[in-house]
Amino acid sequence: MKWVYLFEEGNKDMRDLLGGKGAGVAEMTRAGLPVPPGFTITTACCNAYYRDDAFPEGMWEQALAALAEIEARTGKRFGDPANPLLVSVRSGAKFSMPGMMDTILNLGINAEVAAGLARLTGDERFALDAHRRFIQMFGRTAKGIGTRQAETAAATGAMADEGAAPDENPFESALDARKRAAGVENDADLTVEDLAKLVEDYRQVYRDALGEDFPEDPRAQLEEAIRAVFRSWMNPRAIAYRKSERIPDDLGTAVNVQSMVFGNMGQDSGTGVAFTRDPITGERKLYGDYLLGAQGEDVVAGIRRTERIDALERDMPRVYAQFEEIAARLEKHYRDVQDLEFTIERGKLWMLQTRAAKRTAEAAINIAVDMVGEGLIEASEAVLRVEPRQVETLLHRRLDPDAEVVEIGRGVPASPGAATGAAVFDADTAEVRGRAGEAVILVRVATDPDDVHGMIAAQGVLTSSGGTASHAALVARMMGKPCVVGADEVEVDLRLRHFTAGGVTVSEGEVFTIDGTTGRILRGAVPTIEPEPSERFLKLLGWADAARRLRVWANADYPRDALKARENGAEGIGLCRTEHMFMEQERLPIVQEMILAPEGDERRRLTFELLPFQRSDFEGILEAMDGLPVVIRLIDPPLHEFLPSYEETLVEVTRLEAGLAAGEATSSGPARPGGEAIPGGADLAAQLAAKRELLAAIGGMREANPMLGLRGCRLGITRPEITEMQVTAIVEAAIAIKRRGGDPHPEIMVPLVGTVAEIRVVRTQLEAVARQVMERAGVEVDYKFGTMIEVPRGALVAGEIAEHTEFFSFGTNDLTQTVFGYSRDDAEGKFLVHYLESGILPDNPFQTIDREGVGRLMRMAVEEGRKARPGLKIGICGEHGGDPRSVEFCHQLGLDYVSCSPFRIPVARLAAAQAAIQEAAASAERDR
Ligand code: PEP
Ligand code: MG
Repeated sequence: MKWVYLFEEGNKDMRDLLGGKGAGVAEMTRAGLPVPPGFTITTACCNAYYRDDAFPEGMWEQALAALAEIEARTGKRFGDPANPLLVSVRSGAKFSMPGMMDTILNLGINAEVAAGLARLTGDERFALDAHRRFIQMFGRTAKGIGTRQAETAAATGAMADEGAAPDENPFESALDARKRAAGVENDADLTVEDLAKLVEDYRQVYRDALGEDFPEDPRAQLEEAIRAVFRSWMNPRAIAYRKSERIPDDLGTAVNVQSMVFGNMGQDSGTGVAFTRDPITGERKLYGDYLLGAQGEDVVAGIRRTERIDALERDMPRVYAQFEEIAARLEKHYRDVQDLEFTIERGKLWMLQTRAAKRTAEAAINIAVDMVGEGLIEASEAVLRVEPRQVETLLHRRLDPDAEVVEIGRGVPASPGAATGAAVFDADTAEVRGRAGEAVILVRVATDPDDVHGMIAAQGVLTSSGGTASHAALVARMMGKPCVVGADEVEVDLRLRHFTAGGVTVSEGEVFTIDGTTGRILRGAVPTIEPEPSERFLKLLGWADAARRLRVWANADYPRDALKARENGAEGIGLCRTEHMFMEQERLPIVQEMILAPEGDERRRLTFELLPFQRSDFEGILEAMDGLPVVIRLIDPPLHEFLPSYEETLVEVTRLEAGLAAGEATSSGPARPGGEAIPGGADLAAQLAAKRELLAAIGGMREANPMLGLRGCRLGITRPEITEMQVTAIVEAAIAIKRRGGDPHPEIMVPLVGTVAEIRVVRTQLEAVARQVMERAGVEVDYKFGTMIEVPRGALVAGEIAEHTEFFSFGTNDLTQTVFGYSRDDAEGKFLVHYLESGILPDNPFQTIDREGVGRLMRMAVEEGRKARPGLKIGICGEHGGDPRSVEFCHQLGLDYVSCSPFRIPVARLAAAQAAIQEAAASAERDR
């Protein structure tokens, strides 16, 4: 088995085996660039090391042979004081994990070698400095000195195998003590004698920590260092980073052993990092820093003030010109922005690393589009270069990156963007203050449909409970308002009207800021900046549109959201949730009366009182989307959501009872803001009777599992007058628009269907109503009839259901809830976070479609639905419709469209295009 590759044996396509860094130096070596010779130990070796807890057979011999080759090439010898070879030992995984794993420089130094180095270079100071740095780096990195693990290691004799958070660093303490003794402030002011003493101090630190002497044998050092790099793959930092970046744990890291070049050999030496273009703006110019007379970590450690890369032109014009030329060559070769590391040793430039640069969303877009213009890449490649998830951050108002912030708490980022406003604790106050022009943030434990008018008026929403599929999250995303949910540490006191977080109390009216992109809660006002889709971004989206097959629709309930959606490129409305229209203030009393009315004419009359409201709602949205399909869903949520809560009504009843018993003339006032004031005296008994009646009615409608209860199509079936009223409103709205010369395309959708009989009942009723309305008006409208697939049984019998419907729309919020048996309102706040952290679930299934479970049902429904009705139109309107990985899956399933919140449309357009381009590339690959 070949475990070790000399740099010239590798190339850029070997990242799996050699890691990104190894493949990069290999490619540069092959291209004839100045790269210090070295070799790479493979990622496969790392995995073998973890499997057997030892180097695999033959690896060490191969490493020594490669080392001998390097000795031959450099003319230096490992451990030879007369002409010593020193090496760096660096980690390098397939995907870059900056700063997460270990690196050791200057390896191969011992007392004799250091003396030899001093003679050879004529620079004793340099030799001593390299020596002390090596002891510190090796002690800390390979042996964990100064980390919590080292203490346990010293106590138990066990290996220090985790690079933990630094505690007290005894090397730093020794350095401080030495500087104090010498009476100097800077390392650079230590004399040669001081440095020699410091080397001894460091050896003592090593002895004290580990109970053994520092290893003098360079080969023993190398062996330890390689182990340390392998072990650093599994340090907690690296594991956490992989989790957040979705890098698999079983890739392993390679180890790069490379002959050292020294940037700290005086003022004609130096070291630096540079990007071939600005990674923040994408501007086409070298961007980076360097330091003269310094070694590797000095530049990134931020200890010394670095110079901007262009200043190198002044310091070393010849080297700069060469570097510029190499940078341009590498960028052209890789056809992407490179992140470069270099060292200058006595006027000679050495390249140490090249890799694709990390960049901001803005830079990613600008660079991708520019590179198409420069003929470096194709438009389809440009589309693939931009991360859809990252693009989302560009579409919302965001915190001014230059602003200083004080974080007081954190929650689940539920809807991106930043908002600053005065804290308010109920929807009515939010509405009053918001309408008066004040910026407010609605703070609740959780929101419910009662809060929607407050959310509309607020700049943002903060809840202390709930997850990314909670009511607050869903509605906020749909409205494009920043929202943070599930902030457990935030204590909301609705009675005292304040919240407490991080030891800070924010009272009603006090201004604070939320960042829905990161979940941060910040003190005071933080300036935000408005996004403007740049010309280049629009260009990129144009290319995406040309490439994608999936259509992109929007979830929107209000005409203004529909217009926003259309502006962002929506090609239809995939979900208009009609119940939000019931919540508006002047309608709610009618809705409540209707719900509570006993079956019969009165109930029917009350239901039809809502008709004009609904008709004008639908007219608005159909008009905004003239010429495009609008899926209007019949009423869905449990009716009790429109009623006052049972608990609060019970409190009111109890209070009235107590008042009556005590003969009190007044009560303590409304139990909830906006509730009617309770009159005193004679009216009390009548009030009590009414409240008791209300309580009984609400109590009668209570359910143990409302989400599995009387909702969805069950509601329209048991209360057919609601369906009748809604269908009448939809068809009449379409007729009105048609009469005005418009082109409406309503599609009526039935929620929560699980049996064919349900769909038959609703369809028969609905068609009769629609026919009647059209006949009455003498105008035909083109409407479609379809169903949501959002309970498992609906997916299982999709073939039969398809015979009766013209389209399916996957309601993956409810489908996920019912397939997993997880409450969409509570799971994230209760156990889901733990599940995600402990790896029981790879992803939050309410954010990203669970392909194995939920996805399998979807696939089945698509196949059987289309078999029964070829050409059946199928979309998705659950929250997943705006999640890039879910969009990819929908493409693979062959859906016709995804529907997402208006603000995520560009994200979905990009993700849909990427799925199509990748599919085409894969099929071209197969054909080859
Ligand atoms: C769904 O369940 O996925 C859906 C879109 O409907 P709602 O979120 O309104 O239940
Ligand atoms: Mg649903």
